[in-house]
Amino acid sequence: MAQAQIIDGKIMSERLRADVAADVARLRVEHGIQPGLAVVLVGEDPASQIYVRSKGEYSLAAGMHSVTHRLPSDTGQAELIALVGDLNADPLIHGILVQLPLPKGLDERAVLAAIDPDKDVDGLHVVNAGRLASGQPALTPCTPLGCMIMLRETLGDLTGKRAVVIGRSVLVGRPIAQLLLQADCTVTIAHSRTRDLPAVCREADILVAAVGRPRMIEADWVKPGATVIDVGINRVPFDDPVKAAQGKTKVVGDVAYKEVSAVAGHITPVPGGVGLMTVACLLQNTVTAARRLAGLP
Ligand code: NDP
Repeated sequence: MAQAQIIDGKIMSERLRADVAADVARLRVEHGIQPGLAVVLVGEDPASQIYVRSKGEYSLAAGMHSVTHRLPSDTGQAELIALVGDLNADPLIHGILVQLPLPKGLDERAVLAAIDPDKDVDGLHVVNAGRLASGQPALTPCTPLGCMIMLRETLGDLTGKRAVVIGRSVLVGRPIAQLLLQADCTVTIAHSRTRDLPAVCREADILVAAVGRPRMIEADWVKPGATVIDVGINRVPFDDPVKAAQGKTKVVGDVAYKEVSAVAGHITPVPGGVGLMTVACLLQNTVTAARRLAGLP
């Protein structure tokens, strides 16, 4: 049976990070600007700590100015918003990212709203969501941006393709759907209330799974030859019962990878797919923000 071609997030993200590093170097030489990224982490969530560390390391490796603010989990709302205000005013900082989720008691929406939309490199401010929805230049959430780069590099022009996005979150599903629409796809957004989800998915030339349910998308949900983008990151016990009994876990996507690979034309693996593109797109967004703040095209 033919196997789907793997859309390799490692290769694509390395290329993108190299492009970003070249842009950073050009900005420094030609305009004296060093793009600066500030990441704010509140509390000790272990997954967030890993993400924040890699964001700092990758931004430094790309030649950027990089600052990480680590705050205790009992940080108050006013203190956090004051820090965001300082970063908004800091001319050395072009991108601000507040790592989510925030500890209980902090109002995520209010904190995101405090970020200057032109420095909102996570693309979560309502102004950027509105700009994206109305087709204006916006800072776009990093994971959706990464999915689009993978699709364009794999398929080229996306005009007229039927795209189905499973998931309608503000962080992933909605912005991906907006970007696919901008790319002239015919877009369906599916969610937990969608009737006969497998039938909806089978119509897709491009199927994006952003659900958060391990291996939910099965082979008979996928049109032969379709391109499958798996955004899901789910921790599950190892298949090996000995390892599982030791409490060891591994990461899988929302797609039953092995089975779907026998039907799809192209597929992203998990790990090694979309997740790697997310950080690379954060760097790209920081360069974009630095250019726009300096009035450069
Ligand atoms: P959310 O939980 O915010 O949204 C999940 C969406 O899936 C909702 O719209 C929900 O529908 C829908 N859904 C849930 N169950 C079903 C079902 N049985 N059938 C159809 N739709 C369903 O998650 P996120 O969007 O934040 O993240 C989605 C996944 O992507 C997660 O696994 C997350 O870890 C991963 N992720 C990966 C990133 C990366 O870099 N690769 C970055 C960000 C997220 P409804 O709205 O009706 O409730």
